[in-house]
Amino acid sequence: MTRRRWIADEVSGDRAVLLGEHADHLARVLRARIGQEFDIATGAAVCRGRITSVTNNRVEFELGEEVSGAGLSEIILVLAIFKFDRMEWAIEKATELGAERIVPVIARRSEKHLAQAAASRAERWRRVALEASKQARRSDVLQIEKPVALKVAVKDHPEAVRLVLAEQERSTTLHHALQEALDAAGDETPAIRMAAGPEGGWTAEEEALFDSENWKPVSLGPRILRAETAAITAMAVAAALME
Ligand code: SAH
Repeated sequence: MTRRRWIADEVSGDRAVLLGEHADHLARVLRARIGQEFDIATGAAVCRGRITSVTNNRVEFELGEEVSGAGLSEIILVLAIFKFDRMEWAIEKATELGAERIVPVIARRSEKHLAQAAASRAERWRRVALEASKQARRSDVLQIEKPVALKVAVKDHPEAVRLVLAEQERSTTLHHALQEALDAAGDETPAIRMAAGPEGGWTAEEEALFDSENWKPVSLGPRILRAETAAITAMAVAAALME
């Protein structure tokens, strides 16, 4: 059984600290005491942590040996910017479903005012990702990259398996493309990049751009899904196959 992991709020050398609600839960509900051990995610690793001090809003740990490899999936979601409330929802759910990072991209059909506000929104998205990572008991925090133009993001990470969600694709399903990538990778975990379009979809030029960079169009079935549904569904399919 995996023990519950606690994501450190602060890490410095071999010391880690939990603050606020999580410290309170550990101290009051679980009645943690000095000397007890818990698994602490530091962002880089998960380590055994021995409690060195406890109050209701601060629990300090001395970190010991690493208890597991990172165990991370390598799924990067390239997410076109769309309505912020729905986008936050997609970020939260993608975090729960194990995406490693999200690259917000400004697509041709991302609304202008949203595209302009994206850079300053990224901080808030990072907070959403941090909270969701804690709630999901992840051993790492989902990373949100700086929003970039699609033409930049399509070129990154050329060694990854690159899949673009495309509602007009009929022959290749995401499931099939991922299964193929897994088979080809053997014992390794393949790095996967999946791109989900904005509410209005990708333009023809964007589709051509994906094509020129060797992204494979994949389908999530015959129905048109909303942007956030498509992103979450893609993550669920990937999680089902890869975990
Ligand atoms: N152009 C569409 C809506 C786009 S849906 C329209 O008729 O209004 C938004 C995004 O979700 C798309 O760009 C695509 O990335 C993804 N998507 C939605 N349904 C999908 C499906 N059935 N298969 C694959 N991707 C899908």
